[in-house]
Amino acid sequence: MMKKITGLLVMLMMFSGTSLAQETKGTDTMKYKKLDNLEKYVILDKGTEPPFSGKYVDHKKDGTYTCKRCGQPLFRSDDKFDARCGWPSFDDEIEGAVERKTDADGVRTEILCANCGAHLGHVFKGEGFTDKNLRHCVNSVSLDFEPYTSGSTKD
Ligand SMILES: [Zn+2]
Repeated sequence: MMKKITGLLVMLMMFSGTSLAQETKGTDTMKYKKLDNLEKYVILDKGTEPPFSGKYVDHKKDGTYTCKRCGQPLFRSDDKFDARCGWPSFDDEIEGAVERKTDADGVRTEILCANCGAHLGHVFKGEGFTDKNLRHCVNSVSLDFEPYTSGSTKD
């Protein structure tokens, strides 16, 4: 009966002190609002809600339209106008709140929440609807609405 002793090999195995990159994984989605299926389809998958279906198409109250996902203020009711296109339309945005990039179709300009990257819709130039000549065509499901309040009651 023969035995091979290989124990010495174990001693050669040493871990060199590699600095572990402490990568923070993108799990901070906890702070975002939970989305239903249509919201996920539009906000995450860059879909489009059916025209004239959204609750803010004919919404005329005074207030601020915020990002459905992260709550960042995006548009003001003062800049909303009726484009008869079936989606809430704004001819201006709250400064710095909206990011633009060329759409996957290579033609249109996609607009996203600058804070969380939620898909909002598209922006169109030169249609002549208003003096500013811009139309931010936004999905209602990408938005929440906070009415202006005279008091400062917040929960
Ligand atoms: Zn957002």
